[in-house]
Amino acid sequence: MEKTLVIIKPDAVKKNLIGEIISRFEKQGLRVAALKKIKMTKDEAKGFYIVHKDRPFYDSLTDFMSEGPIVVMVLEGEDAIARARKIMGATNPAQAEEGTIRRDFAENIERNAVHGSDSPQSAAYEIPYFFSAIEIL
Ligand code: ADP
Ligand code: MG
Repeated sequence: MEKTLVIIKPDAVKKNLIGEIISRFEKQGLRVAALKKIKMTKDEAKGFYIVHKDRPFYDSLTDFMSEGPIVVMVLEGEDAIARARKIMGATNPAQAEEGTIRRDFAENIERNAVHGSDSPQSAAYEIPYFFSAIEIL
C-alpha cells in the first residue's frame, strides 16, 4: 500500500471545504492514515517547498501557505500518489479536468486548494515533515 501527503491549503480551509475535500478522496477508496490541522510559519513553508526555491513563485507560494491554517494528511491506498493527484486535477485550475478538486474549488494557479506528493521520493520527504511514525495508522 502506497502513502501520499495531501494538504488542504489555506484558501480551501477558509472556504470551509475540509469535509468536502476529504470525502472526495475517501469516495475514491483512499484511506486517511493520519490527519491534523496546523498553521505553518513562513520558514516551515519554505522548508516544505524547498524543491521550488529557485522558482519565481517561491516567495509568494510560501507566503500563501503560511497565511492561515491548513489540514495535512497521509492518504493510503494502491497507487495512492497518482490517484490522489488525479482526484486533485492539474496545478492550473483552468487546465484541470471536470470533477476534480482544483477545477471545482481553486481560485488560480497558486491558490489551488490542495497539495499532493508527486512521487515516492517526495512523499518520503513530505510525510515525515509533518508526522512521526506513531501518528500514521
Ligand atoms: P503541484 O502542486 O501541482 O505539484 P508544483 O509542484 O509545480 O504543482 O507547484 C507547487 C505549487 O506552487 C502549486 O500547487 C501552486 O500552489 C504553486 N504554483 C505552481 N506554479 C505556479 C505559478 N506559475 N505561479 C504561481 N504559483 C504557482
Ligand atoms: Mg508539486
